[in-house]
Amino acid sequence: MSRGDAAFRRKDLKGTVHENSFSGAQSFMRRKYTRELEGVDVAVTGIPFDQAVSNRPGARFGPEAVRRASAQHTWGPMWPWRFDPFDTLAVIDYGDLDFDYGRIDTVPEAITGHIATIIDGGASTLTFGGDHFITCPVLEAYHRIHGPLGLVHFDAHRDFEEDVNGRIDHGTMFTRAMNDGFIDPARTIQIGIRTYFDGERGEGVQVVGADRVHAETPAAIAKLIMERAGNGPAYLTFDIDCLDPAFAPGTGTPVPGGLSTYQALAILRELKGMEFAGMDITEVSPPYDHSEITANAAALLAIEMLCLKAWARGARP
Ligand code: MN
Ligand code: MN
Repeated sequence: MSRGDAAFRRKDLKGTVHENSFSGAQSFMRRKYTRELEGVDVAVTGIPFDQAVSNRPGARFGPEAVRRASAQHTWGPMWPWRFDPFDTLAVIDYGDLDFDYGRIDTVPEAITGHIATIIDGGASTLTFGGDHFITCPVLEAYHRIHGPLGLVHFDAHRDFEEDVNGRIDHGTMFTRAMNDGFIDPARTIQIGIRTYFDGERGEGVQVVGADRVHAETPAAIAKLIMERAGNGPAYLTFDIDCLDPAFAPGTGTPVPGGLSTYQALAILRELKGMEFAGMDITEVSPPYDHSEITANAAALLAIEMLCLKAWARGARP
């Protein structure tokens, strides 16, 4: 095949296609843009909704920026895994959810339906936000299949503020997810937290503050995660503001004192053996980014999430 625009011209669902990283149609990791789900292991999809933020908007541009940043990582085997996750996993770029931004109350159902279509088609999802609210309706779709899920949640914030009558708010949606039975608090763990809010809920959830992550090794934090969520279906959600603003300035509610990109990647690498039912990265806000620092971090985190899934499916160096 001649090179260029692999997102539309490639035929195969597996393998890495080389193309100049600075040109061509941008799909995540040059995956094929398609909505055909036959034979697909993971569908990458964007949910460019950012109308639930409490401070800076802009995460609606997140999926586009992460796709663009991913192009420079399409070289094949990933360090330090020493394999190409796309040799094991058939991964497509499913494109973005189209929704009515003028009818915000219809968006949660639209998100749940979008994700349900993909998982009913036999694939799992790696979703790019959008603000973090989107994770609640995504969890609803997974809950229909798995029942209450374990939740592994990287964030500076707990997102368990009080929810009355179903707020569309990126600080309350895990209260809603818990009240509606989408997640099992006994199998939920939050990593990197460094904020308090009045009236916070989330009783029974394990909180691992950023201070503890800094004081302990990535392997020790990964052990906590596996003990908490490893014994059943679990969902992985990564709010990019878990990273310190030095490593992820392009986000809506940055809080200093967070994880380095390396710490987050090292924890993921220590989760070998876990296979998450679904995964997402949210809150990448390109208008506040500098030099694609945040989008690049999100792209590599996403790729290594796929390495983790490929490892669980037998990929080895
Ligand atoms: Mn956050
Ligand atoms: Mn969050």
